[in-house]
Amino acid sequence: MIDKTTSILFLLIASSAVLVQCEENATDSFLPLKKAEHCDIEQCQLPNCRCSGLRLPSTDFKGHEKEIPQLITVTFDDAVNVVNYDYYQKLFDGLVNPDNCSARGTFYVSHEYTDYTLVNALYQQGHEIALHSVTHGTGTDYWRDADVERLMAEFGEQIEMLVKFAKVNRKHIRGMRLPFLQISGNNTYEAGKRLGLLYDSSWPTQRYTSPAMWPYTLDYRSRQDCQIGPCPNAAIPGFWVSPMVSWFDTAGYSCAMIDGCIYPPKDDVDAMFNWMMENFKRHYDGNRTPFGMYLHAAWFQRGRHYFEAFRKFLLHVNTLPDVYLTTVSRVIHYMKHPNLGKPFMGCPKKPQATCIKRNCGLRKMETGEIRYMNVCDSCPSVYPWLGNPLGRNEYY
Ligand SMILES: [Zn+2]
Repeated sequence: MIDKTTSILFLLIASSAVLVQCEENATDSFLPLKKAEHCDIEQCQLPNCRCSGLRLPSTDFKGHEKEIPQLITVTFDDAVNVVNYDYYQKLFDGLVNPDNCSARGTFYVSHEYTDYTLVNALYQQGHEIALHSVTHGTGTDYWRDADVERLMAEFGEQIEMLVKFAKVNRKHIRGMRLPFLQISGNNTYEAGKRLGLLYDSSWPTQRYTSPAMWPYTLDYRSRQDCQIGPCPNAAIPGFWVSPMVSWFDTAGYSCAMIDGCIYPPKDDVDAMFNWMMENFKRHYDGNRTPFGMYLHAAWFQRGRHYFEAFRKFLLHVNTLPDVYLTTVSRVIHYMKHPNLGKPFMGCPKKPQATCIKRNCGLRKMETGEIRYMNVCDSCPSVYPWLGNPLGRNEYY
């Protein structure tokens, strides 16, 4: 017993010595995380701090809920390629928001099977390009157990790839979503912050759907229900959570992503359209929290009328004078600078990023197979992967 206590004591002394050493070398963002405290509204002020919860973006909005612009975020996950690109083009075709800016979506891109020239095209059209990791992992355990180092590699190297192969400006990459929505407690958010990102959108809420929860920062303890834990309990100042407010299917089950709804309506344009309207109205006729439409393009192939119904819904909401189809990072921008009526000043500039398409046949070193990959400007030497994001030869 004494032995055990002694060794624990030694361990404690040893680890505190390590801690002191780390602190001496650390810059601000590398200090040990502090436990998140109860949110203090007086201390937590916009633009860089917001308590989690149902409070309107500004106290001036009370009684003016109907003047809060209704923001809608349409987001897609996974590889961007010829299989899904046409859907994206048809979906947003001709949609213009009430402020005369084009309707836009957010793409959480993972590396494998991605055609980076098509990512470049989406980027130049003004869509948001965000992160969904290099490997997408092999299952939820990989992500649940991920430490900060693994997460920084998976998301940081995907940034390098998007910059190099799709010519996306580093500063336009602002957000992340974990594969399988599997977060790993504080690690996810610490990695996001260290990578210089603005927000994560992986955390579903079933409890706060009506009224729904607004995006918030992790300066203080989150009130959000933890559906797919572990959830964070540390203070990660200035880093935003864009909660995935659940939908409900026809049997009343909640779904974080549309394609996760187990009992969608029958495969009929009007039935699907009415169902989308029902989900939308919880926001539009309620507190006007951003309405998320989260899915994978494969969902459009699940029913003959799914795409048509989705497009019909977008065409309809696009006729409403106070509805804006925009990106998740623009929603965070709005949360920082909320106002009634028009949500934004002017339209975001469409980036210029000329891309000369190259089709590259590359050896995937892990398996030896040849992979074809379209990139901008020049081919890498080998198939890029975790640990060698730019596909350089000298790594082998
Ligand atoms: Zn995915």
